Parts: sequence; C-alpha cells; structure tokens
Amino acid sequence: MTAGTETARQLPVADRAAVRRAAWGLIRADGRAMVGLLLLSSLAVAAGLAPPWLLGQIINRVRAGDGAGSVDSLTAAIVGFAVLQLVLVRFARYAAHRFAERALVRIRASFVDRVVALPTAVVERAGTGDLMMRSTGDVAAVGSAVGYAAPDVLIAALQVAFILVAVFVVSPLLGLCGLVGLPMMWLVARWYLNRSRIAYLAEGAARSALADDLAGTVAGARTVEALRLQRRRVDSGNRRIVAGYGTQLRTLFLRNVLYPVIDFAHSLPVAVMLFLGGLCYVHGIVTLGAVVAATLYMRQLVDPLDIALQWMEQLQQSGASLARLEGIGQVAITEPAMGREPADDRLVATALHYTYDGHHDVLHGVDLAVRPGERLAIVGPSGAGKSTLGRLLAGIDTPGSGTVTLGGIPLDAVPADELRRLVVLVTQEHHVFLGSLRDNLAIAAPQADDDELLAALDAVEAHWVRELADGLDTELGGNGQVLDVAAAQQLALARVVLVDPHTLILDEATAMLDPTTARQAERSLGAVLHGRTVIAIAHRLQTAHDADRIAVIDGGTITEVGSHRELVAAGGGYAALWRSWHGR
Ligand code: ADP
Repeated sequence: MTAGTETARQLPVADRAAVRRAAWGLIRADGRAMVGLLLLSSLAVAAGLAPPWLLGQIINRVRAGDGAGSVDSLTAAIVGFAVLQLVLVRFARYAAHRFAERALVRIRASFVDRVVALPTAVVERAGTGDLMMRSTGDVAAVGSAVGYAAPDVLIAALQVAFILVAVFVVSPLLGLCGLVGLPMMWLVARWYLNRSRIAYLAEGAARSALADDLAGTVAGARTVEALRLQRRRVDSGNRRIVAGYGTQLRTLFLRNVLYPVIDFAHSLPVAVMLFLGGLCYVHGIVTLGAVVAATLYMRQLVDPLDIALQWMEQLQQSGASLARLEGIGQVAITEPAMGREPADDRLVATALHYTYDGHHDVLHGVDLAVRPGERLAIVGPSGAGKSTLGRLLAGIDTPGSGTVTLGGIPLDAVPADELRRLVVLVTQEHHVFLGSLRDNLAIAAPQADDDELLAALDAVEAHWVRELADGLDTELGGNGQVLDVAAAQQLALARVVLVDPHTLILDEATAMLDPTTARQAERSLGAVLHGRTVIAIAHRLQTAHDADRIAVIDGGTITEVGSHRELVAAGGGYAALWRSWHGR
C-alpha cells in the first residue's frame, strides 16, 4: 500500500470554518445557560477588581492623615469583596461545568449518530485504526477541552478584559504601561496558532497511522506468520514510530518558542509600570494609591493569562480533534433526501465497472438480471470478481459506472433503511456484539417481541438457545457466553429471518467451515433461503449444480449464463470445470 492511496482512504477532516460553526452551534444550543454563565463570571471578575482599588484608597487616606476608622471600613470591604469573589467564582465554575457536560453529551451523541450512519464501505476503506482513534482519543480530547479548558479560558478572558479596563480607569497613563507586553504576546500566539493546527493534525494522523498499522498486524497475525512477514511488519511499525516522533518534535519546537516569550511578556509590563509609576509619583503626576492599585492589577493579570496559555495548547489540540470528529459528518453519504420505493423485487445490474485502486477495473461491464424467486449461483476462479459483484448487488459498494436497480430504482436512490430490509448480504463474518442475546437479535428487528425472536432462532435450528439458563438474557461476548462458529452463524441467520428480506446474497457462507459444521450451517441456511431470491457466490460446484441458473464470471466479466444442464451441454468453461470436478 503506498502513502498516496493511504491518505486517499483517510476519513475527512473538517476545515476551520466548519469547526467554528460546530463550536458556535454548541453555544447556541444552550444559549440561555451561556448568557447566565457570562453574567455570573462577569460579576465574579468584577468583585475581584475591588480589593486592589480599595488598597490604593487606604494608602492615599493614610498619606492624607485620615483616621483609623475609615481605614478599618475599607479593610472590611476588601475582605467582603474577596469572600464575594470566592463564592461567585465557585458558582461560575459550577455553571460552566454543567454547561460543558451538556455540550459534551451533544458532541458524543452526534458523533455516534454519524459513525453509525457511515456507509460500510467507507468504514472498511478508512481502516479501523483511524475511526478507533477518533472515537477514543479525539472524543476524550474534546471532552476535556469542553469540560475543563473552555470554562477556565472563558473566565480568564473576562478577567483580562476587566483588569485592563480597571487599570485605565485608575490611571490612563499607567494603563498604557499595562499594554506593553500585549503586542508581543499577540504576535507569538499568532505565530504559534498558525503553525500548531497543522502540526497537531499531523501528530494525530501519525498516531492513527501507527494504530492502523498495529491493528493490521494483529488482525492478520496468521498471515504475517505464514508468509514470514514479521520483519517487514516490524520495520513498517518502526517507520511509523519514526514518522510520529518527527511530528512530536515539531510540536515540541513550537511550544519551546511560545512559553519563554510569553513568560517574558508577562513580567515586562509589571517592571515598566513599577519604573514609570515610580517616576510619575515622584513628579506628582499620579498618587501612590494609583500606582499600587495599577501594579496589583498587573500582577493579577498574570494568573488569567497563564491559565489561558496553559489551556491554549489543549484547546488547539482539541480544535484538531473536533475537526476530526466533525470530518466524520462530511463523508458524502449518498442517501438522497427523498428516497424512492422500488416497484418490485427485480434486481438488475447493467454495465457494471468497479475499481479498488482507481486504475484497474476488477469488473468490466457486468450485465446480470436476477429473476425474482430464483436461485442464482455465481461461479468462477478466485479473484474473478464474485465478491465484488455481490457487494455491488447488495448496494454496499457503489459501481464506478453502470447501475444496479431494484424494482427499476437505482440502489443508491433507495433509502438505506429500506434497502437493508429488502436485500441482505450474508458473509462468513458473523459478528457477535457485546450484550445480551436479545440485544444481538434486536439489532435486526427492534420491534420484535420475545416470541418472534425465539421463533427466528428456531427457524435456523439454533436449539441450544432453549438450554440457556438465562434464555434471551444470556450475555454474549466479553466475559459472557462464547459462541462457536456455527452458533454465531445461526445468530446471524436468525437476524436475517427477522429482517425478512426478499433477496439474499450469500458470499462464502459455508466455505470456511469444517464439513460437519458446514452441513449443520447448510441446514440452518435452508430454512432461511425458503421463499426468497438467492444469489449464492458458489465455491463448491455442488451449490451451482443445485441452482436454477449459473452465471460464470471470469476476469471481471460474465462469460456464460444458464442452467447446469444448458451449460454442460454448451461445452464451455463451466462444462470443463464440471468435468474436472466430477472426474469425467
Ligand atoms: P472473488 O470473490 O471472485 O475471489 P473478488 O471480488 O474478491 O474476487 O476480487 C476481485 C479482484 O479485486 C481481485 O483481483 C482482488 O485482488 C481485488 N480486490 C478485492 N477486494 C479488494 C480490496 N478491498 N482492495 C483492493 N483490491 C481488492
């Protein structure tokens, strides 16, 4: 796999505008709470401004020779405001965290909805690593940003704004000193932000690529072992680690420039203010109280700026994470707003072309009309394109050109829910989901009651279910009951019975099973096939022999179509296969 095709397969990442829209959407969704939060935070910040000003007043009064009484009341006011600020900050934080929790629930719910709606083909092509990274690392990053960073930064931003206004009110001249560090901070922050998004996205992509690589090695462990590919897989993992290390060095460099400059920019205004404030006081331009108050304000500025800085990096990282989560919503889901209902059960493929790599067609103009109610076997050598054709007929992949229609409607114009109900592809992968047996069946038919679920299990001869102590409540997967291959297949087939599609496409349904299991599986399958149109991708010629019609596919085109008898009589490729298989 080359790097080029790999990036082409990656899931999309949303641009800045889309991320801003998403963030704004989260605020608007809980608008009143946000307004309340802003008010509460503003009050808390305003309460924090009083003590330095009061302290300035105390100094001025003492210098003017006022009595202890006025100093006492000012001191009491300082204590009062400090306590008030403490209480208000506590409530503001509480309100912010509640707001954040609700926002987080919205983010998680919309992410799950989007992932569930992703076309299977997109998930398969994207690789599980990327999707896994987005659903774990990225959701956690956004979660902690929304839960912790955003509330702190909001309060810090208000503090900065209020403090700067307060310094100007105390003394416009000293206020100007307070601005000395800001351009420097602004410039370095911009420098950092302009580079860090790309750098963090690259870091995230490198982590996903490594996870993909490892997941691929683990999933294909047998193949790796059989073909002695260990060395190559380790090398490939190492290459990804080195690439990941490079991206981490880059983000480290950005932080190494940012932090020292910001530290310097913090101290500069305080130093300038002390120096100029002292000069001004000596020349009688400002009072001593004003210098003290303004300097204290400048000291107060350090904390919120530090908090903002501390979180800026995390906000930046989670901005990249949010972009990756939002990107999932940008996968073109070819589901039309107004789907159309197929008129009947006729499945027709016309001039199908399909390519996996964008260059070489694996199907070259396949035409095939499936007759409702028939058993159609598709046979042909390995790699001829049988499975690909099966996926196109089921509407799981979309042909590069040509169409597959159901009842006269192109498959991609049939609403996805409807299509899932009408045509089902059964492969040899039978996933058992973590949850109860009932949950595993209800995926196919959420409305079905227990009797219907048990009837579906009976139909596929899954009699073992009757012996389970907890019946439908038996937990499967994880620490629960382990199902063997045949039982897992029966479960999958029971789901098919519940969905009750008119057309079934069977791909290698029994090919990988041992003979005893295969016979049992075939019996289960027999009950499911009854009364439906069946397209069987046949790996044993016996299946073809029993079918109503056989389509022979070779090198991506259909070379022969007919009944077993007709094809044997015609003496073509199928007849040769049959003779060699039958030893005649
Ligand atoms: P069959 O089912 O007849 O064995 P397939 O439809 O699986 O054939 O494959 C047809 C061709 O497409 C083969 O050359 C195969 O290597 C290629 N192919 C199948 N799946 C993929 C895939 N996911 N990515 C790239 N090439 C593929």
